Amino acid sequence: MTATASTAAASAATAAASTTTAARTAPQAPAGGPLPVLGRDVRVPLVTGGETTYAALDYAASAPALQRVWDDVAAYAPYYGSVHRGAGHLSQLSTDLFENSRETVARFLGCRPEDEVVFTRSTTDSLNLLACALPAGAHVYVFETEHHAALLPWHRRAGVTVTYLDAPRSPQQAVTTLADALAAAPKGAGPALVCVTGASNVTGEIWPVRELAATAHAHGARIVLDAAQLAPHHPVDVAELDVDWVAFSGHKLYAPFGSGVLAGRADWLREAEPYLAGGGASRTVTRRPDGGVAVEWHTSEARHEAGSPNVIGVHAIASACRALTEAGFDTLVARERTLVARVREGLAGIPGVRVLGLFGPDTPRVGVLSFTVEGWQSSHFAAALSAEYGIGVRDGLFCAHPLVRTLLGSEPQAPGECGAEESGAAGGTLHAVRVSFGAGTPDEHVERFLRAVRELVTEGARWSYRTQEGRCVPVTAA
Ligand code: PLP
Repeated sequence: MTATASTAAASAATAAASTTTAARTAPQAPAGGPLPVLGRDVRVPLVTGGETTYAALDYAASAPALQRVWDDVAAYAPYYGSVHRGAGHLSQLSTDLFENSRETVARFLGCRPEDEVVFTRSTTDSLNLLACALPAGAHVYVFETEHHAALLPWHRRAGVTVTYLDAPRSPQQAVTTLADALAAAPKGAGPALVCVTGASNVTGEIWPVRELAATAHAHGARIVLDAAQLAPHHPVDVAELDVDWVAFSGHKLYAPFGSGVLAGRADWLREAEPYLAGGGASRTVTRRPDGGVAVEWHTSEARHEAGSPNVIGVHAIASACRALTEAGFDTLVARERTLVARVREGLAGIPGVRVLGLFGPDTPRVGVLSFTVEGWQSSHFAAALSAEYGIGVRDGLFCAHPLVRTLLGSEPQAPGECGAEESGAAGGTLHAVRVSFGAGTPDEHVERFLRAVRELVTEGARWSYRTQEGRCVPVTAA
């Protein structure tokens, strides 16, 4: 590399790491308005003719990338190099970028000085990693209302027992349910872990994390916070909440490049077998006299990061953390509250629409709401929102089957033939529709959504739909 290229690489990577490049080039959001995201001008066809800009209202599944994140990734991409391995200049730059990202994420999460930040693929990956790191004989407590990523990793570990707690109907009941379950544990039982969500991916309701953490600790248990839906919408402060670990995904935090985070206490992680065996996790590997191999594993974060790390994904997460912090969570939370209130008020005025909630209407929520519409199957309703209004929402059970079953008061079943409900052949709502939004959502998307729901409910769909491979799709000419 020439001196000029080398200097350019160094300054570009440093700039990318400090985000000053992107801060200069990315369009700034008007105060109190949406943050610029990719795809905001994408136009989609309408089945009824013409086209419209796409209204992405499925943030709870995956949020669009912040423009700022994309700019930071683009600024770094030419200087991409192997992390931790290479002797070359770009490898060293990339390694610095990767390791600096840990500090950025730790600051974003308000971690304690002794906490570790392990980079994973996603929240699912982070919670599975923690499940693998549970000490022998551990007992896990988890509410049945959790996303499957938080519900399912634990019981597969040999020697680990799991108590599934019934759905509470208020934040206070969540705390007493947990306290009762922990108090009922036999004296001298093994280590205990509580896993709890910060905000529900179905109702958007915010859970009483600080109180649950205090309850867990009062009974000698630890607690992991599933912040997949909380972190993109609300500040998360590990030290202040006093949780032992927190997990979240980049793709829900406006950084859809395949990385996630598990941050928190180091001891269980350092004592556990590496999550994946391979290069990066191993410090030295030697042949033993008996013909086998002896491995000395790392005792830092690297222990659970075997293989070549996703430096672009990690850089993107760090960029998103900086962007949200600089935008100011107070402003973001205040604006999102206004949008939530507008959606709740708008849906409340439409006959036959029922917004799902566990804790009651006064519970604070992030921008995630699920609802049913009398006489409509959710797949039909969601398909009409997409095909006739250019609005992307989600329908189904949202990987939280026990919770949706509780909320709907029925056993979820496969939907019938879509569109048939209007002719009386099918009925009942066995699934729900979910609308979700966040820092990049313009007011117009919310207004279009409310208008669309009202029109569909009062006037019906303007198009015919049929079921194709399990999905409801508009009928089009062959
Ligand atoms: N936890 C919650 C509350 C979620 O909403 C999700 C995804 O929707 C997950 C965990 C799993 O996240 P990921 O699919 O990124 O692993």
